[in-house]
Amino acid sequence: MKLARSSKNIVATMPDILMIILGCDCDPDRPRYGGARYDSHRPALTWRGLTEGIPALEERLRRVGTIAGVTPKAVFFLRSDIQMQEIYGSAAWPVVQFQEMWHRLEGQGHEIAWHPHVWRWSDQWGCWFQETKDSPWIAECLEVGYSDFAKRFGSNPVTCHMGWTFHNNCTMQKLAELGVKIDFSASPGVHFGGGPGDGGTVFDNRIDWLETPFEWYRPSESDYRRPARAGEKELAIIEVPKFTSESGVLRRLKDIAARGKRTPGHEAGAAVFLQVTALPVLYGTIIKQRLQRKEAEPFFATYFHPDELLGGKQHSSVGFLYSLDHLEKNLLRLIDSARKKGRDVAFVTGVEALKYIQRLDTRGTPG
Ligand SMILES: [Zn+2]
Repeated sequence: MKLARSSKNIVATMPDILMIILGCDCDPDRPRYGGARYDSHRPALTWRGLTEGIPALEERLRRVGTIAGVTPKAVFFLRSDIQMQEIYGSAAWPVVQFQEMWHRLEGQGHEIAWHPHVWRWSDQWGCWFQETKDSPWIAECLEVGYSDFAKRFGSNPVTCHMGWTFHNNCTMQKLAELGVKIDFSASPGVHFGGGPGDGGTVFDNRIDWLETPFEWYRPSESDYRRPARAGEKELAIIEVPKFTSESGVLRRLKDIAARGKRTPGHEAGAAVFLQVTALPVLYGTIIKQRLQRKEAEPFFATYFHPDELLGGKQHSSVGFLYSLDHLEKNLLRLIDSARKKGRDVAFVTGVEALKYIQRLDTRGTPG
């Protein structure tokens, strides 16, 4: 039975459908996948994840379609920010460099969206680091990235997923001001203070999503992590949180997977996010927990990186933990498990999720 539906039908037949948002953060290959380290100002970045991983992904998604009767759509989040500008001379360089691929993917129903990183070069430290404090610089990074994306791609990005899933009040306000309509950065309960990693940076991975609900919301101007309370201003952007787990076992396994990247002192929050490319025996727990929850209806947002799709010998345990095979198995299991629970599934883009939410609003259902 073919179950693929147009976006119009998705809106008409909710809410028993589980709407899966499959995000792909189109970064250059990361150091643990053989990519350039962070301690060179203009490194020779490699993009094998995009040039080899994404075509392989397209083939696997078609195979999932043949097996399950529903071909997954994805949201491809493209880099456009000051780091790209400093390395390549144009913030949205990846938009132009791989434009044929983006147009092909768009033609298949996938969405092309935005993935800004606030990587900032430091002469003092001799490395790129995650800027989290200098609000004017952060605002400029986002302004430059957004406008160059729009110029090179030919239309404004509607949907965003932030680098590291990082936000603060400045970034959330800026996205809303720029006109981004929907963002998937929230990872409820996840908290990392940030610090040095073995890729050559002195500081990255600062993430704070404590107190964030599982349900979609319009962020408060005073606290990006939650909906506006009485008397607070609400930002003109929708936040759809990804699904996270409070499983201590998963958290410990993820810590093991990150061993060597993280130095001691990185405190973990209560929850953990697991990529959909993760080992099926682990991701199966996420699927089970998600299908048990009534919250976060109707969305199930998850993501992965293209370098996780690369085959061949990997540099550490990450090659065992994350792979294209795992992604295929996890998607098939998710579809099958949802159906066994009496729920159909649909893969939706950010634009389609937004349409669904706007339709709820016109019915007077508050967000
Ligand atoms: Zn990223």
